[in-house]
Amino acid sequence: MSKKIAILGSTGSIGKQTLSVIDQLGPQYSVEVLTAGSNYRLLSEQVRKYSPSLAVLSDHRAAEELKYLLRGEGCAVSSGREGQVEAALFPGIDLVVMAQVGFSGFEPFVAALKQGRTVALANKEALVIGGEILKRQGLLDLNRILPLDSEHSAVWQCRGSAATGEIEKIILTASGGPFFGFNSEQLNRVTAAEALKHPNWQMGPKITIDSATMMNKGLEVIEARWLFDLSLEHIEVVVHPQSIIHSMVEFVDGSILAQLSEPDMRLPIQYALTYPVRQKNSLKRFIPFGRELHFHEPDRCNFPCLDLAIAAARQGGTLPACLNAANEVAVSAFIDGRISFKAIAETVEKTMQSHSVTAQPDLEDILHADYTSRIKAEEIAADMTGVE
Ligand code: MG
Repeated sequence: MSKKIAILGSTGSIGKQTLSVIDQLGPQYSVEVLTAGSNYRLLSEQVRKYSPSLAVLSDHRAAEELKYLLRGEGCAVSSGREGQVEAALFPGIDLVVMAQVGFSGFEPFVAALKQGRTVALANKEALVIGGEILKRQGLLDLNRILPLDSEHSAVWQCRGSAATGEIEKIILTASGGPFFGFNSEQLNRVTAAEALKHPNWQMGPKITIDSATMMNKGLEVIEARWLFDLSLEHIEVVVHPQSIIHSMVEFVDGSILAQLSEPDMRLPIQYALTYPVRQKNSLKRFIPFGRELHFHEPDRCNFPCLDLAIAAARQGGTLPACLNAANEVAVSAFIDGRISFKAIAETVEKTMQSHSVTAQPDLEDILHADYTSRIKAEEIAADMTGVE
């Protein structure tokens, strides 16, 4: 019997790579549900190739276009937030891959967990903003949330069946991004085009910029805290520019296990799809001869986003939602050329300073914090436009 997969966010970078992994794995994996935001052309091509039962677009008008393109194909089409939740709950699915970008992934993620679904999670924002609520509701269960993020997949693979009490700390590696080693003056001059060229990883634009600011690692610290039920003191960040070691686990006896491979997202994606077994593939192998692996302390001064994220995690409540919303706004303002690279962190910091935190938030509080923080961040970014 085939393993039935739903991919939410199938037209993005992780979604496309998940489909390519499924192509390699063969017919024991079948794609039953595909969703995207508004890219109806690519989604219609994917539907023709994979013949899912349901296709969903968040954008209602794009969904109408999709219906027109797919007439006679025998694939149901839904739209909007309800459609994304319908996709996460579609009957008979064995694994829901959450590959959306940003906050939009949260509702379907919660819906899937509440129904006891197994979820392969690439959408780190869902845990960053909602981890606290999910923890309170008892929905965080590593047996049902399989990490797709390469660092968290590494920790998952290294920790094996060890209990939380056997783990001294986890060491998340960071490539440092394209501006690793840059000083303040050099960072003043960097452009979006330069930030979008990641030295090691092929990723979508939002996460590539987050990687350049180190916000990505900050979000991953929060993600790791919830996924592995660890306090922030037990999570360390190490810059490792070669991106060969994807993360490490240090146990209480001082033994450290690391997971290594050439950087390629298809490996953590495949591990989540085939778990608990491993399957052969043709991905490039890491050959150690002549290779050097380096480790550095993160530059917390020139890349303040890492500590902003940790500060948001420490305070908790609605502050991580505020951080995430402000960052999404700031990153798109930077990609559009409206603000400078350094203004990303400034926008996030100022938005956080102006946010009044609600402790023990419910979903409404989180949605409200997300909404108001976006408006505030837009105002702050607009004030910084053109200012060096
Ligand atoms: Mg990562």
